[in-house]
Amino acid sequence: ELAAGDAFLCKQTPWQADEPVPYAALISTFTLIESTSKRIEITTHLTAFFFMVIRLSPKELLKTVYLCINRLCPDYVGLELGVGESILEKAIAESTGRSLAKIKADLKKEGDLGLVAMMSRNTQPTMFKPKPLTVSSVFAKLTEIARVSGNASQAKKIGIIKSLLATSVEMEPKFIIRSLEGKLRIRLAERTVLVAVAWATVLRDRGSKKWSKEKLASELEEGANIVKSVYSELPSYDCVIPALLDCGISGLREHCKLTPGIPLKPMLAKPTKAIGEVLDRFEGKTFTCEYKYDGERAQIHQSEDGTIKIFSRNSEDMSLKYPDLIDQLPGCINEGTSSFVLDAEAVAIERATMNLLPFQELSRRKRKDVRAEDVQVTVCLFAFDLLYLNGEPLLHKDLLSRRQLLYQHFHPVPGEFDFANSSDGSSTEEIQTFLDQSVKDGCEGLMVKMLQSDASYYEPSRRSVNWLKLKKDYLTGVGDSFDLVVVGAYHGHGKRTAVYGAFLLACYDSDSEQFQTICKIGTGFTDDALLQHHNTLKGLEVDVMRSDIAPGQAKPDVWFTPTVVWEVLAADLSLSPVYTAAQGLVEERGISLRFPRFIRVRDDKAPEDSTSPEQIADMYERQALAQSKGGKKRRGD
Ligand code: ATP
Repeated sequence: ELAAGDAFLCKQTPWQADEPVPYAALISTFTLIESTSKRIEITTHLTAFFFMVIRLSPKELLKTVYLCINRLCPDYVGLELGVGESILEKAIAESTGRSLAKIKADLKKEGDLGLVAMMSRNTQPTMFKPKPLTVSSVFAKLTEIARVSGNASQAKKIGIIKSLLATSVEMEPKFIIRSLEGKLRIRLAERTVLVAVAWATVLRDRGSKKWSKEKLASELEEGANIVKSVYSELPSYDCVIPALLDCGISGLREHCKLTPGIPLKPMLAKPTKAIGEVLDRFEGKTFTCEYKYDGERAQIHQSEDGTIKIFSRNSEDMSLKYPDLIDQLPGCINEGTSSFVLDAEAVAIERATMNLLPFQELSRRKRKDVRAEDVQVTVCLFAFDLLYLNGEPLLHKDLLSRRQLLYQHFHPVPGEFDFANSSDGSSTEEIQTFLDQSVKDGCEGLMVKMLQSDASYYEPSRRSVNWLKLKKDYLTGVGDSFDLVVVGAYHGHGKRTAVYGAFLLACYDSDSEQFQTICKIGTGFTDDALLQHHNTLKGLEVDVMRSDIAPGQAKPDVWFTPTVVWEVLAADLSLSPVYTAAQGLVEERGISLRFPRFIRVRDDKAPEDSTSPEQIADMYERQALAQSKGGKKRRGD
């Protein structure tokens, strides 16, 4: 369609150049996107819209992109949308003059507060036509709402939401409310937004040049790859969008590089079930095994001015959680090290014995405003990678070179800082011995990494086959644990009547923006844990199932707003007519976990970071493969 004479670029009525982008134009794009499930159509609609924004009001592209991904700023700034249902219900009721009971009843019927807001607003008589909303004005109000804090914050929020709703028309109230809820529910993945920004910039850069279909297709593909890769290194639209506008696709890499202070998305590992599988994958390659420490990922940034910041796996700023680490760090940096980004694991340690403690100990620490002198759970940092040094990104160097630079520029301080213990031995026996040793030393197992080859560069945000995890506990199960979102619960019986007795879990599909159910779980909980889960989850109960849950045949007694993530182990995976996880990936049926067991709460993961349907399908297929190999062997016997 892009190649067919750009007709699609004129689908919308444009606004005057240099005028603010009308919010209605964004909403009509959302409506077009909502009407299709085809990724290419979604991308095309969004490209057309971004192209128009770039041509007419380029300064507003940044805010437009933020509204499309429903965020207000980069993750590490920590300003979040996400207003509670009850506040939104009150604001809708007060703004439209309807009773709260009617709003609640409509929500029960529709299952979407955005729709309820739209219907309520559109049946309300209006005396005069309100001044049209713009992308900028909506962005400003949403920011104001997210910033409200302190006394009477609820009333203040309701006040601002009412003023927004009062000037909204047609479809606008639906999306205003959904933005405030924290989910647009139009199946618009962030990846698609990045691709559309890239495509729109390619079209702008092309100008009046005539390109063949093939040339256009290859420019679009390359543009998208460049933007995705730059963004994974520098995940800040505040930096990437202005650079794209100023320098185009061709100048982007030059202007946007990993920068201390802006956390990059960490590289992730693929699970393996056995040492044999590791050896198969790395056959003929040089690899290294490192202890897999049982703590919390910590990305440590020091800028040229000496400021140190610590970021979580999810790019949240954890500097206020770890003031002790920030105090400890200067003691382990060698001279001649001015700026750096370290990839490391923060692990609880008992300094008297130097024993490493499990993650559960670390999770006892407060999350914010910790004073270094009050710290009881002490922490040692284990560095395993160096991603930036003295003004230069190192991502494209191989692991061996990065590791040498790490060893040259830092030194261990007992109980405070160390390098991840590693062994470059490559026989089954050596790996087995190192694995056993890691577990004795309080670790979860090993991380096995490609060491010295083109493939051993650092791959931000990728779950790469060049990093494998070998977890001791999971060798007998399916090779890894699952991080799943609690979307529903079943009432308890007998001893458990006061609490929930079992829970419905789901994985998250970022393509369809849906939570896909995967199993019911009632095992692995102590009575205390059940009570705690009840206290946490009670506040997340909703009257009707949210429309971003794909329930399949699951019918829990209560539904939750998907918020809480649990780590879960399972005996194996099986195809299921009941649940929807990974439906269509392996077979028409979904996949479910057999004998799931609760391990721990993962409060370092957002629901969107939970295990993906692709990972589940991957594990199912590996299990099927292992079974068929095992089966063949047995038959051969
Ligand atoms: P995933 O999304 O891969 O499941 P996760 O956060 O659930 O990630 P794991 O599956 O347990 O974590 O494995 C990867 C994590 O192991 C890393 O994110 C990091 O926090 C931790 N880790 C501990 N030691 C190392 C090491 N030597 N190298 C890399 N990561 C390590």
